Amino acid sequence: MGDGKFSTRAAVLWSTIPKQARERILANVFCVKCGDSVPIINFTGEERDGDVCLKGLCAKCGLEVVRVVETSETDSSGN
Ligand SMILES: [Zn+2]
Repeated sequence: MGDGKFSTRAAVLWSTIPKQARERILANVFCVKCGDSVPIINFTGEERDGDVCLKGLCAKCGLEVVRVVETSETDSSGN
């Protein structure tokens, strides 16, 4: 889809996350300026301690936002 630039390891980890969960993550990144969950745009992904660290911009105000996705927890559906 070309919607993000990932390092090789981050891409592998990211691919283990169900598509639906990935879309939800990308649409709900907390922005301190907006004080709300916002879509992340122009993001990149890097592997960090076995998790995926997403860095990008708030779709609403353009502030840099970061989200660490704990891939080790994605096999439980949670609430
Ligand atoms: Zn914002």
